Amino acid sequence: MRYSALKIFTEGLFGNKGWTPAWRTPDPKADYDAVIIGGGGHGLATAYYLAKNHGLTNIAVLEKSYLGGGNVGRNTTIVRANYFMPGNSEFYSHSLRLWEGLEADLNYNVMHSQRGQVVLFHSDGQRDAQIRRANAIVNQGDDAEIMSVDQLRAEFPYLDYDQTRFPIYGGMMQRRAGTARHDAVAWGYARGADQRGVDLIQNCEVTGIDIENGVVKGVQTTRGPIRAKKVGMCAAGRSGQVAALAGLRLPIESHVLQAFVTEGLKPVIDSVISFGMGHFYISQSDKGGLVFGGDIDMYASYAARGNLPMVEHVMEAGMTLMPMIGRAKVLRAWGGIMDMTPDGSPIIDKTPVEGLYVDAGWNYGGFKATPASGWCMAHLMATNEPHEVARRFRLDRFRTGHLMDEEGTGSQHNLH
Ligand SMILES: Cc1cc2nc3c(=O)[nH]c(=O)nc-3n(C[C@H](O)[C@H](O)[C@H](O)COP(=O)(O)OP(=O)(O)OC[C@H]3O[C@@H](n4cnc5c(N)ncnc54)[C@H](O)[C@@H]3O)c2cc1C
Repeated sequence: MRYSALKIFTEGLFGNKGWTPAWRTPDPKADYDAVIIGGGGHGLATAYYLAKNHGLTNIAVLEKSYLGGGNVGRNTTIVRANYFMPGNSEFYSHSLRLWEGLEADLNYNVMHSQRGQVVLFHSDGQRDAQIRRANAIVNQGDDAEIMSVDQLRAEFPYLDYDQTRFPIYGGMMQRRAGTARHDAVAWGYARGADQRGVDLIQNCEVTGIDIENGVVKGVQTTRGPIRAKKVGMCAAGRSGQVAALAGLRLPIESHVLQAFVTEGLKPVIDSVISFGMGHFYISQSDKGGLVFGGDIDMYASYAARGNLPMVEHVMEAGMTLMPMIGRAKVLRAWGGIMDMTPDGSPIIDKTPVEGLYVDAGWNYGGFKATPASGWCMAHLMATNEPHEVARRFRLDRFRTGHLMDEEGTGSQHNLH
């Protein structure tokens, strides 16, 4: 079924009885050309582009829970391409361009909204760093502009510019950045993959990876064994555990990251705003809730809920930046499990097991990467060669020392 304004209109006239399920619910087959472990954004996008770009359709996505129940449906939905380092910058640039055509490509409204994102700076040193970053981004072909305090005051009058501890010196704006409706991204890719023949198998946990003589042969699941010529691991926060099924130890620690949503308010914040003196970022959803988050909880965990000290820390940062936020009531808070690498950059690579591929280490920036990650992982799985924009996301860089430390915080998982 093709979605269109006309379809909505005619369905409205006839009682909305003609809608069909967005994807099938097939039983797993015994044999596939490729299986993807993990039905989050990255797994679904990988399956979609394997089918669309490479013509592979005998594929299954195996999801232990329900599609979109992982981080793809738990994030704060920020989409941007303001990375600095070679390797990251061209990858996220590619991703943003894919976002810009995604709704037309998927025939699905993912509510991609290019409302802009501003990163504030609060010292001369931070200003220098942001100007350098902005120049790099512009050279990369993306957009960035430095905003003065006067420009910021005109656009964001509710920020506390003069507070004594962290006065605002200016900001770096990327107008093409913004947000997207996170679960719609999962649903759109799921529907697109299903339409191309991909089997989406929910409630199917992978419990083992079958390997013979160094070559992958398939997987064991809670719904029986499945043979596969190629296996892609797209398990985000569970990447370490899934890779361990193949006897691999990934350079990843899993940490909790929390998010918060307030009651619905009248439109007040029309861009994404990132505080420069603490980890705090905020936007307003189309339903009116203020959506915000901060740092990870700083201890390794598989619990998808966080602790109270970090709640307090995030609220303090919010109050520092925009005291008016203290009037809003937080309605919901939750956590997601982040796959943190030592350098804060991801991995899209082959593994030492032939036919087994890994897409992991997305830290807390993997939502914006969804289209390019799927695109590049599909390219890798189909051709056995890395895509040019993901060439540096190598698994062995942690052994060779070719780290991609975007934030300059050193080789420590919890600091990125
Ligand atoms: C609170 C929060 C805020 C965030 N904010 C942003 C943001 O603003 N911008 C941004 O770019 N990124 C953000 N992120 C990060 C982003 O959400 C993740 O990096 C990204 O979603 C990870 O990829 P994914 O969508 O494939 O993960 P997931 O949706 O977690 O998919 C992985 C899937 O694998 C499944 N799985 C695991 N083990 C198995 C198994 N053994 N068998 C079968 N299936 C298995 C899981 O059930 C899960 O569905 C945020 C994350 C959180 C938690």
